[in-house]
Amino acid sequence: MSEWTDILDGLTDQITLLKELGLRTVELDPAVIRALGRRAAPAADATRPPPDSQPPTVPAPIAPEPFTAPRVAPIEETQALSPEARRAALDELAARIASCTACPLHQSRNRTVPGQGNFNSPDILFIGEAPGAEEDQQGVPFVGAAGQLLTRMIAAMGYTRDQVFIANICKCRPPRNRPPTPDEAAICLIYLRQQIRLIRPKTIILLGGTAIKALLDTQVGVNRIQGEWTQYEGIPVMPTFHPSYLLRFEPAKRDAWQALKRVLAHLGKPVPSSSR
Ligand code: URA
Repeated sequence: MSEWTDILDGLTDQITLLKELGLRTVELDPAVIRALGRRAAPAADATRPPPDSQPPTVPAPIAPEPFTAPRVAPIEETQALSPEARRAALDELAARIASCTACPLHQSRNRTVPGQGNFNSPDILFIGEAPGAEEDQQGVPFVGAAGQLLTRMIAAMGYTRDQVFIANICKCRPPRNRPPTPDEAAICLIYLRQQIRLIRPKTIILLGGTAIKALLDTQVGVNRIQGEWTQYEGIPVMPTFHPSYLLRFEPAKRDAWQALKRVLAHLGKPVPSSSR
């Protein structure tokens, strides 16, 4: 087999895997498209040299990046794990995230941001969109301006950041903080799904449209379902606004606070007197 055939086989495997994962588009670097075009150009009889006798242009080998999707363990399996085994599994997942090259976001990231907090069945798992500039520098979720508001929201509920778990749909920062594409979100969701099975939160709070659409696999907008209970794999889920939106549109804070209070009521926790 020629090197070219090897490359095509690898590419076919890669695209087949992405298709199985539900992706419908792939981003190709312009250099790849040019190289494919050069190879697709030969005349009808490909065994003959081209009339100008120029040797065919051999594109630089383009090695497809291997992406072995992490296994999303059955719930019965993760339920049986000790805290130590749970931590080890999450650390292993974080290591895989750190070396992930499955989507274009890896090209511009500084640090991956797998998530932070209490991984031992916390009362709440907060899920945002994707790291911003600060998070990308520090490798820690929600530490920029939106993060400071989230920290205040957590405190208003009577928790510290260490008592809950904080994660994002995407573990790498999209360039210029643009929202992740549906494909980027779909790929990274595999990591989050495994994290949820390992962490086993009692409730999930989805922050903003990207988190809602990706985890609940819906096109329904945040305004339609914010504040209404739904569920993911049997875990009660409360969708609400993203802190970045709340920073830009203060009046929505009132509705977001109602949503957070519903979560407290579900958990049987009082609203802290300082927040009433
Ligand atoms: N916005 C997010 O959605 N996640 C972060 O970690 C920071 C900002």
